[in-house]
Amino acid sequence: MNQEGSQQDIMTNDAATTALASAPAHATGVIVIDLDRIAANWLALREHVAPTSCAAVVKADAYGLGAARVIPALYRAGCRTYFVATLDEAVEARALTGPDAIIFMLDGIVAGSAPEVAEAGIWPVLSSFAEAYEWASEATRRDTRLPCALHLDTGLNRLGMPASDLHALAANMHALDKLDVRLVMSHLACADDPGHPKNAQQREIFEQLFPLLPSAPASLAASDGLMLGKPYHYGLVRPGYALYGGQASSANRAPVEPVVSAYARVLQVRDSAPGHTVGYSATYQIAGVTRLATLACGYADGFFRHASAATGQINGQVAFAGTRSPVVGRVSMDLITVDVTAIEPEVVRGAWAEIIGPVISLEDMGNAAGTIGYEVLTALGKRFHRVYLGGDKD
Ligand SMILES: *Cc1c(COP(=O)(O)O)cnc(C)c1O
Repeated sequence: MNQEGSQQDIMTNDAATTALASAPAHATGVIVIDLDRIAANWLALREHVAPTSCAAVVKADAYGLGAARVIPALYRAGCRTYFVATLDEAVEARALTGPDAIIFMLDGIVAGSAPEVAEAGIWPVLSSFAEAYEWASEATRRDTRLPCALHLDTGLNRLGMPASDLHALAANMHALDKLDVRLVMSHLACADDPGHPKNAQQREIFEQLFPLLPSAPASLAASDGLMLGKPYHYGLVRPGYALYGGQASSANRAPVEPVVSAYARVLQVRDSAPGHTVGYSATYQIAGVTRLATLACGYADGFFRHASAATGQINGQVAFAGTRSPVVGRVSMDLITVDVTAIEPEVVRGAWAEIIGPVISLEDMGNAAGTIGYEVLTALGKRFHRVYLGGDKD
């Protein structure tokens, strides 16, 4: 961690201490979300890619952090283009922004839903000829042209038009005329690995397809892609994870700071002797005299069961006053048990353990459970008390 990073961490820590003090006495866990930092991260990414425009991906309830609070904070910072996945998310985003905001819906038109999407004023991201045709037909019914983005598949093989669909669309002037194409986009498969040859391959395929389409701004990069440099920026970048403080690529650090921390309450502290086992299925055997703390945090709170640790393993970790403390035994629905033998000052009932924060990053937590920080965010439980910092300035 560089000097600047540790300064920031200390600031986060102070804000978190205040937030913990303001939590109700009965709170078993607290999640602290810094809305000003999310806005600052968006501004930093926008500056990084300027003069390219910067959107915000706020799907899945703003990656679990609460779209109702996150979207207004981004809007106040100046963000005018948003990406969500579903129509329900799009309608929520529309209500939280002004009429000048553009809401793109990544899942596109679920078969048969074009009238609802058009009625809501949402711009779908169209990923097949069938979808484009459905949107064009809706435009014809309304005797207008309807705005949309076209998603081209350049090698991810997930969503997006294969070249054959694109050729079919390009040949159907009637359908194409009805589409008001505002964005041409694709998505990278390996952008978290700057050395991967697929990055440049996808960029080449993307550009080869442009001549088939009406001219419109292009977009290829998400959080990791925008760190691959100018050739990947085009007219618009689409970060999600980086806005929320995530480092999508370990090779290229994005110019963003953490925005979320989570703390769980110590319910009980006990001394345990050699020969005892801890937790379900007795997977962890106590070796020496050990002090254990049981925390009010389990897999229902987003602490993945895969972070369980059998004897001799270190997987999940929490932290007390800056020092790591390993999970021992199975993670259960509401509880984890951690080894606090080495923690000074002594851990007491009612204390707070850091689950995510200055010591345990989103990526640390993800790695401990064999997953990624993205899933950590979207799995954050609903029964922890949430504290939002900043945001409501007007
Ligand atoms: C989710 C998503 C993004 C945002 O990705 P991050 O890695 O979170 O920045 C961008 N584009 C598409 C198509 C996506 O599905």
